[in-house]
Amino acid sequence: MRVPLIVGNWKMHLSLDEAEALATAAAKVAADCPDREVVIAPPFTALATVRAVVGERLILAAQNVGWAKKGAFTGEISPPMLRELGCRMVIVGHSERRHIFHEDNRMINQRLRGAMQQGLVPILCIGETLAEREAGRTMAVLEAQIRQGLNQVTLSDPARLVMAYEPVWAIGTGQTATPAQAQEAHKFVRRLLSALYEKNIATTTRILYGGSVNAANIDELMALADVDGALVGGASLAAESFERVIRFV
Ligand code: PEP
Repeated sequence: MRVPLIVGNWKMHLSLDEAEALATAAAKVAADCPDREVVIAPPFTALATVRAVVGERLILAAQNVGWAKKGAFTGEISPPMLRELGCRMVIVGHSERRHIFHEDNRMINQRLRGAMQQGLVPILCIGETLAEREAGRTMAVLEAQIRQGLNQVTLSDPARLVMAYEPVWAIGTGQTATPAQAQEAHKFVRRLLSALYEKNIATTTRILYGGSVNAANIDELMALADVDGALVGGASLAAESFERVIRFV
């Protein structure tokens, strides 16, 4: 019912040559795995280069998006610009945007709605910090991020939104959430979606896990009932480890 989805987030890495080579390798693996969807999110500057080699099966995403179609927004990239470059998806609310660049739920909601209005599928990232987890506030933080991030968003088609639970303390640290922690959070996200939308939206929206996913832990994570895929940073930067993540068992 929920087609597994593996997303590689390249962050601010790779030269154009490296990006082209890695995308070429990922495209081959994606073509060989028709039962799952594979997405790569290169830096904006590599989108045009990578587009030429993604083929039919590898989906192109951006790492962020401006909310307006055009205008005086120095440094921003609009949804139509991303569409023109072949992007079908976009990451919004990544923890690095929230915590390094201070994007708040209101701005993330604007970005998400702008993307959806222009036909891009947003991957809405949510997740608690270590201090929030230790204070017992994980579910309250997730709830606020979801309610505010999806403010004024109507959904009749589950294919138009992807959620990603990424505990901030697990991103780039090598410390993955335990299966129990991941499943608890994912179940909570799905329950909240069912409170906000029709039941079929909650049961069919894909919820990805992100945070130090790698070749060694992907199988265990993908076996969890409410984990429908992974958002992968570090392990998506090498062809071999990304291939193993895509080929999860
Ligand atoms: C990410 O970029 O969203 C991420 C989870 O990074 P990493 O896999 O390196 O922890």
